[in-house]
Amino acid sequence: MNREKTEYVRPLPTPSPDSRPFWDAARRHELQLPRCRDCDQFFFYPRHLCPQCLGSNLEWQRVSGKGTVYSFTVVRRPPNKLFADVPYVLAIVELAEGPRLTTNIVGCAPEAVRCGAPVTVVFEDVTPEVTLVKFRPEP
Ligand SMILES: [Zn+2]
Repeated sequence: MNREKTEYVRPLPTPSPDSRPFWDAARRHELQLPRCRDCDQFFFYPRHLCPQCLGSNLEWQRVSGKGTVYSFTVVRRPPNKLFADVPYVLAIVELAEGPRLTTNIVGCAPEAVRCGAPVTVVFEDVTPEVTLVKFRPEP
């Protein structure tokens, strides 16, 4: 397939030591979350201590990529010229494993998004080094 190459102009994530495994997994098209081995809880955002028990016995685990829309807004007025491609859906997705993450809902009309709707993860390779984690409605 001959795809048009366009330069990605939006800001890119800057992985920290705590979040680097998340972004590395995304490049492999895997959704991984930090999990506390002591209290058996997933959490997000990544950090070096468990937010439930303050334990440091953590690991990264692949998760289902399934969740539901917890909340969302349709952005119709660009916050700046880098986000001029409106409308788009800014959402909080609650993953099946519990944690919520801020993301975009893609693959449907913004008007079709509903709170509680089931969604599944998709990966958007925006540069050779960076893959973004987004969600689309379940078919
Ligand atoms: Zn814990």
